[in-house]
Amino acid sequence: MAMAWDFETEPDFQRKLDWANDFVRSEIEPLDLVLGDPYNKGDEQAMRIVRPLQQQVKDAKLWACHLEPELGGEGYGQVKLALLNEILGRSRWAPSVFGCQAPDSGNAEILARYGTPEQKERYLASLLAGEISSCYSMTEPHAGSDPGLFTTQAVRDGDEWVIRGEKWFSSNARYASFYIVMAVTDAERGTRGGMSMFIVPADAPGLRIIRNVGLGTESDDTGSHAYVSYDQVRVPADHLLGKEGAAFEIAQARLGGGRIHHAMRTIAQVRRALDMMLERAVSRQVRAGSLASQQLTQQAIADSWLQVEQFRLLVLRTAWLIDKHQDYQFVRKDIAAVKAAMPVVYYDVVRRAMHLHGSLGISNEMPFSSMLVSAEAVALADGPTEVHQMTLAKQLLRNVKPADGLWPSEHLPTRRLAAQQHLAQRLEHEAADI
Ligand SMILES: Cc1cc2nc3c(=O)[nH]c(=O)nc-3n(C[C@H](O)[C@H](O)[C@H](O)COP(=O)(O)OP(=O)(O)OC[C@H]3O[C@@H](n4cnc5c(N)ncnc54)[C@H](O)[C@@H]3O)c2cc1C
Repeated sequence: MAMAWDFETEPDFQRKLDWANDFVRSEIEPLDLVLGDPYNKGDEQAMRIVRPLQQQVKDAKLWACHLEPELGGEGYGQVKLALLNEILGRSRWAPSVFGCQAPDSGNAEILARYGTPEQKERYLASLLAGEISSCYSMTEPHAGSDPGLFTTQAVRDGDEWVIRGEKWFSSNARYASFYIVMAVTDAERGTRGGMSMFIVPADAPGLRIIRNVGLGTESDDTGSHAYVSYDQVRVPADHLLGKEGAAFEIAQARLGGGRIHHAMRTIAQVRRALDMMLERAVSRQVRAGSLASQQLTQQAIADSWLQVEQFRLLVLRTAWLIDKHQDYQFVRKDIAAVKAAMPVVYYDVVRRAMHLHGSLGISNEMPFSSMLVSAEAVALADGPTEVHQMTLAKQLLRNVKPADGLWPSEHLPTRRLAAQQHLAQRLEHEAADI
């Protein structure tokens, strides 16, 4: 009998996951502690170490699993990708070694979906092969959450588009070979219809990184979120990505996948924080015994496990819905829910784990401080929590009708009266039979 619900992983794929788990822990996590930025393809020494590892991933049929086979991926779907990403998310380098790192993964998806054959040949092929990095340049210094306020402009001039404006927090711009830039092409038409996407080569005259901004306490030279100036940057007309005016639709297609993939990787980080919490609880002694024997520690552990497992189920269910419907718009509500839940579970579990480690936890000898910054980063990147809460609530409210009359439909006296009327005849029969 076919099962309606099944939480088992196919044995074949489970073997792949087991291999990936061992491989990430033994071969990739050491890279995190020694090598520089995974997006810097110009770091020859790092690339010499990484290329053979990428080959092993390809041999294991786990390369670029977010993509369909015609684009060099495996086409496993989102549930299997989630199971893999909750391993890869442990490590800074793992997504690049497995060919599924953001923002390149999202950029590859939109190039594949909206790009012309020439654009795919020039930009997509080497991106998919992991030979170059890319950047997505949308947010502006004065406006992020509301794209309706963006002012970077692209004006058609003969066979070229001329782009002028500034962008903010364009991740990995310093290592990117090309940028995907969102610009206003028809101010009258607003976000839907008035904005377009462009592919801009990194060496286009007029494109300048004003500075590379870091997260938290990262030093200026390691920051990788660029403040970028586009000063009359000219790109050929064929560098428009998708139709003129279609930027909003393209951005939604890109960000839908991006958001759920971040969530899959976040599961790895919160599990890691929980594991550290468990180890600390049984290792650290107070006079009454181990921290693990203290009920308040037990409460912190129980609350954390519950939050992690609830979040994981929400992510897996959403991945399953994407596989089933093959439409990010259709699962907007679910993706918004995942996006809003993600920073809460991330922050709560990491903060508890950090606290349980005492002064060591807050020191730079443990990873908790940067994990806390990451928890806040996922509350902002791809849109702040509030915007996703609004999307979720609006979707839930969409088909709800107001109550008839003065009282809510669950008002007990009103329901009781209706129930008595509904059953009146049968109650009369019963009374007559006695
Ligand atoms: C790690 C990281 C990487 C990023 N990478 C990129 C990238 O590669 N490319 C790119 O283009 N952008 C990138 N961003 C930018 C990101 O998309 C923006 O930070 C995000 O859209 C929010 O915009 P903002 O920072 O301007 O905040 P604002 O729009 O100024 O919002 C600030 C706060 O105001 C509140 N708020 C805003 N709107 C509403 C509302 N409607 N209702 C209620 N409250 C509201 C929220 O509390 C919000 O956190 C990245 C951000 C981070 C943190």
